[in-house]
Amino acid sequence: QAKAAGRNTYQFFTKNMNEAVSRRMHIEQALRQAIKQREFVLHYQPVVSLSNGEIIGAEALIRWQHPSKGLIYPDSFIEVAEEAGLIEPIGQWVIEQACADLKHWQSLGLALQVAVNVSSRQCKQTSKTPIKDIIKEALKDNDISPSNLKVEITESLLMDNSQEMMTTLQDIRDLGVAIYMDDFGTGYSSLSYLKHFPIDVMKIDRSFIAGSIDDKTDASLVEAVVLIGHSLSLKLVGEGIETKQHYDYLRSLGCDYGQGYFISKPIMSSEFITLCQQVGRLPTWST
Ligand code: C2E
Ligand code: MG
Ligand code: MG
Ligand code: MG
Repeated sequence: QAKAAGRNTYQFFTKNMNEAVSRRMHIEQALRQAIKQREFVLHYQPVVSLSNGEIIGAEALIRWQHPSKGLIYPDSFIEVAEEAGLIEPIGQWVIEQACADLKHWQSLGLALQVAVNVSSRQCKQTSKTPIKDIIKEALKDNDISPSNLKVEITESLLMDNSQEMMTTLQDIRDLGVAIYMDDFGTGYSSLSYLKHFPIDVMKIDRSFIAGSIDDKTDASLVEAVVLIGHSLSLKLVGEGIETKQHYDYLRSLGCDYGQGYFISKPIMSSEFITLCQQVGRLPTWST
């Protein structure tokens, strides 16, 4: 009886594993196609200065415009892309497209910054083209000052191969491009990262912001992160601002910048331009 149950369990797992494997292979195949057919788009989520409500720039977020399935979000394909060795071409496209869009915004007289997300696979010293060269070229091709581009990394990247990542991050920073630590607090946060790695800005993960209004612990953590950041002369971005309460709270703590659905969802470049031209600054929120 037990044996039979055990075998059924085994069959259950293998069936699901096969499904997972074949699903993965399917996505991988579709991703290869997507790279060739240029099916990706970047959406931009505005980042505002919490002190005066001014839009200072945006975070570039990739979407996959699938010919039949519609818009697919990064959480559904970035991991597969990383494992299939496809994140390098995709990541290169992201950097180039973000710089091209930035150039376009600047040609319209909009002084803005853009932050791109980068995976640890893109930071290997053994990459075909080192990421610092990809960034350097994209800046040069679009005539963009390095101070207008930001690179977002996560804590997991630092754990991957510290020495290798350190070298890469230093190379990027030597170009004049600032490093943002994304989702701060969700990884195996170690304060020593802040000491050893060349980080310029910390983005407080939205899970802490979400909890900060009702949960005393989350609120304490947000306050502590702001204090740590500032005492290390880092700037802070609060992520996932969904309500005016979140906005006001972060502002009262002296958090420098903010991002979230309350301010704007990620939008197309054309919509972002319209927003900057029409609104530019969001004064009502700064009072
Ligand atoms: P992330 O870098 O932490 O980006 C923020 C995510 O939170 C975005 O999800 C954004 O749409 C979402 N978000 C923003 N404001 C709010 C809010 O107020 N409430 C809630 N609930 N969510 C909010 P998205 O665009 O689905 O991206 C998910 C993750 O995928 C990103 O997290 C990033 O880690 C990764 N990603 C996105 N674009 C790229 C890329 O070009 N390359 C790589 N390697 N990863 C990317
Ligand atoms: Mg990010
Ligand atoms: Mg984040
Ligand atoms: Mg994230």
